Amino acid sequence: MLQDSFGRVHDYLRISLTDHCNFRCTYCMPQEEMEWMPQSKLMSKEEILTLAETFVGLGVKKIRLTGGEPLVRKEFPEILERLAAFPVELTLTTNGVLIHKHIEVLKKAGVRSVNVSLDTLNREKFLKLTRRDQFDRVWENMLLLLREGFRVKVNAVALHGLIEEEICDFVAMTERLPIHMRFIEFMPFAGNHWQSKKVVTAAQMLDLVKEKYEIVKLEDKKHDTAKKYKVPGFEGTFAFITTMSENFCAGCNRIRLTADGKIKNCLFGKEELDLLIALRRGENVEEIIRLSISRKHKALGGQFDPDYLKANPEAIENRSMIKIGG
Ligand code: SAM
Ligand code: SF4
Repeated sequence: MLQDSFGRVHDYLRISLTDHCNFRCTYCMPQEEMEWMPQSKLMSKEEILTLAETFVGLGVKKIRLTGGEPLVRKEFPEILERLAAFPVELTLTTNGVLIHKHIEVLKKAGVRSVNVSLDTLNREKFLKLTRRDQFDRVWENMLLLLREGFRVKVNAVALHGLIEEEICDFVAMTERLPIHMRFIEFMPFAGNHWQSKKVVTAAQMLDLVKEKYEIVKLEDKKHDTAKKYKVPGFEGTFAFITTMSENFCAGCNRIRLTADGKIKNCLFGKEELDLLIALRRGENVEEIIRLSISRKHKALGGQFDPDYLKANPEAIENRSMIKIGG
C-alpha cells in the first residue's frame, strides 16, 4: 500500500505514454519552440509494463493512459492489451482525434470509460485553440464512443473569454447525449502564461448555468476531483474541476509517471524521482516509489497558495502540462 504522511492511500496511476501530440493546444504546450524528449530517454514498451507491474504490486488499482496524446504512440494497442492482463481498471484521456482507429482494442482491453478533451463547440475557435482543423473528427469520435457503449467524460478547460459564451451550449449538449461534461479551471504550468485573472471559477460558471437552467447537485465520491450537477430530465451530467478555487488535495490518491520515467507525487510538484534510470541500473524501484509518496506535500505540491489569487506563476517550478501527463 502506498500511503503518504497525511494518511492518503495512493492507488491511481496516470502513465504518460509520450510527450508528443498531434494538437498544439495553447494552454498546454509552450508557444516557444517545444523540445521533444529524445527517444532514448523515453520509457520503452517493456519498461512501461515493468514499472506498471511494480505499481500494481504496491496497490495501484486504476491506471489512466495519457500524454501528450497517448494515441500517437505506435505501440499504444500493444501496451493497452498487455496492461489489461493486470487486475486494474484501465482508462484513457485523449484529444479524441484518433479514437476511430482504436475502438476495437479499447473494447478488447475492457476499457469502459474514456475522457475526451473538447474546449469549444465552435469549429473556428477549435482551430485557433488546438492549431488543428479537427473539430468534426473529434465530435464524430465522441459520438462513436457513445454508440459503442463507452462512458464518455468530456473535458473542457474553462478559458476566460470562451467558456462564458459556451458553457450553456455545453450543458445543453447533455440534454440528449449521456455525456459527463467537466469544466476544468485553468491551471498554471510552465510556458502557459497563466494569470489569476484568466481563471474562471466554478462558482462563476455555476452562476451562468443557473441563469438558464434549474439544476440539482449530485453526490460526489471520496476521491472525485469533479463536483457534479445535472439538469433534471437531461441524459448527461456536468461538473467542475475546482483545482484553483477549491482544491481537492485532501482526498488525493493519484501518482504520475512521466513519459521519461519520472515519478511525480503531485501534478504541481517540482520534486521528481527517476524510476527509469533506477530500473535500467537494476536498482530497487519500489523503494524509490515509496520515498516519493512519503515526501508528498499536503496540497498543490507545496508550490502555491490555496488562495489562487495569491499564486505567483513565476515562482512555480514545474514542467509544461504536455510533458507531465494530465
Ligand atoms: N492529449 C490528451 C488530451 O488532450 O486529452 C491527454 C493529455 S492532456 C495534457 C490532459 C488534460 O489536461 C486535457 O483534458 C487538457 O485539456 C488538460 N489541460 C492541459 N493544460 C491544462 C491547463 N493549463 N489547465 C487545465 N487543464 C489543462
Ligand atoms: Fe495535446 Fe492534449 Fe495538450 Fe492539447 S491538451 S496539446 S491535445 S496533450
